[in-house]
Amino acid sequence: MGNDGSSEGWENKQNILVILAHPDDPEFFCGGTIARWTTDGHQVSYCLLTCGDKGTKDRNLSPDELCTIRHTEQLNAANVLGVTKVKFLDYPDGYLLPNLELRKDITRVIREECPDILVTCDPQTLYIRDSYINHPDHRAAGQAVLDAVFPAARDHLNFIELWRDEGLEPHIVREVWVSLTIEPNVLIDVTKYWDTKIKAIKEHKSQISDVEALEKRLRDRHTKDSQLASPRYEEGFRRIIFTR
Ligand SMILES: [Zn+2]
Repeated sequence: MGNDGSSEGWENKQNILVILAHPDDPEFFCGGTIARWTTDGHQVSYCLLTCGDKGTKDRNLSPDELCTIRHTEQLNAANVLGVTKVKFLDYPDGYLLPNLELRKDITRVIREECPDILVTCDPQTLYIRDSYINHPDHRAAGQAVLDAVFPAARDHLNFIELWRDEGLEPHIVREVWVSLTIEPNVLIDVTKYWDTKIKAIKEHKSQISDVEALEKRLRDRHTKDSQLASPRYEEGFRRIIFTR
């Protein structure tokens, strides 16, 4: 496990695409790492599969209104982390399924953006810290993204119409970084970027009822070998490097 300043081991600037289910997932799952990457000059862009249009207890908000609010919040949060390109596929929140329609739409995005590095979340995570059930959309997103990376984006006869009718060439992703995993094989030190992560999360105003409690919860997430007075923060990933 690497956790020093050079643990990515990349010699060149990378094109990094983050594909996750909801607005706020990138910031919560791996916002520190994203800030670290953009600071290092890598290009990071997002694709959100839903617009999070079920995420409210406000009886007066319609899903469409919430969708619009969450688009704006996500753009603002991305901006805090140095991410300038955000795409929304606007599938309905809460009903995401890892079916062929979703896999094809993700395959299209991968072929359009041609990322070196793709970030998603772990479809195998069902329980979190013995106190949460992982959202079904997160599991569906992770599964659909991994299935799109391999083999759909790679081989031209998968969703042949993307190549034949839309002119999208196959694309080989070099690495996949799987966030929200209980089996990380790499820990990225994001201590320097924890304040930026918190700032970005706070842009998701519609999702926060008690901003102080949220901030405390995030600051309390320091590593076991550090103290709150001089904390260290990490984000874990299952990093898959494809061999050719
Ligand atoms: Zn989510």
